[in-house]
Order: sequence, then structure tokens, then C-alpha cells
Amino acid sequence: MKDSPDKKNSVNETVSIEDKLFTINYDHNHETHITCIGDPKDWEVLNPLQWTCPAKVYTKNQESGSLDIDFENCIECGTCQILCPDHILWVYPKGGYGIRNRCG
Ligand code: SF4
Repeated sequence: MKDSPDKKNSVNETVSIEDKLFTINYDHNHETHITCIGDPKDWEVLNPLQWTCPAKVYTKNQESGSLDIDFENCIECGTCQILCPDHILWVYPKGGYGIRNRCG
């Protein structure tokens, strides 16, 4: 039995993170809402942020070895606060800024 065309839009369809991120609009504030409050070179603690943040906000600066935070990409999921509450201070962006979902 062939799949019907509607089956393409079923809940079982795989959607990439990049496609999901495309459904979000951002209004950027120029002030960061994410601050590293621990040692920005403590990669034993900070390393998981690089591969768990869905928006790739956290990267290791190859020159300085410190944590770079691209706060403009944050989708406000809260994962970093669960992983590193003693190293990352995260608050919601200032009123009127942050993410807006296009769908749902
Ligand atoms: S709240 Fe989510 S998207 Fe934002 S920096 Fe933390 S892990 Fe990344």
C-alpha cells in the first residue's frame, strides 16, 4: 500500500533543528542576557554547553581559550541553566526583546 500525500505531514516526519530554528523570529537587544559567572576557561564544566545548546550560543574561542557567548542566537530553552547553573547566569531578555514563534 502506497503512502498518501498527507502522510508527509504526519507527526512522524523528521524535522531538522535548523528547520525548527527557522520558525523563530528574534528581536535583538544590544545588552546580553547571558553572563559567564564562573571561570570562562573551565572546559571540564563548560564543554557540554557547546553540544547541548540547540542554537550554538556557546563556543570556545580558539585564540584565547575562553568561552564565547553569541547571546543573539538564544532561543530561551533554558538548557544551559540546568547544565551549568553555577557558571552561567541566564535571565530572560529585556521586555520587548527575545524570541517570537512564527508557528504554534
Ligand atoms: S537558553 Fe537554550 S538556546 Fe539559550 S543559551 Fe541557553 S541552551 Fe542556548
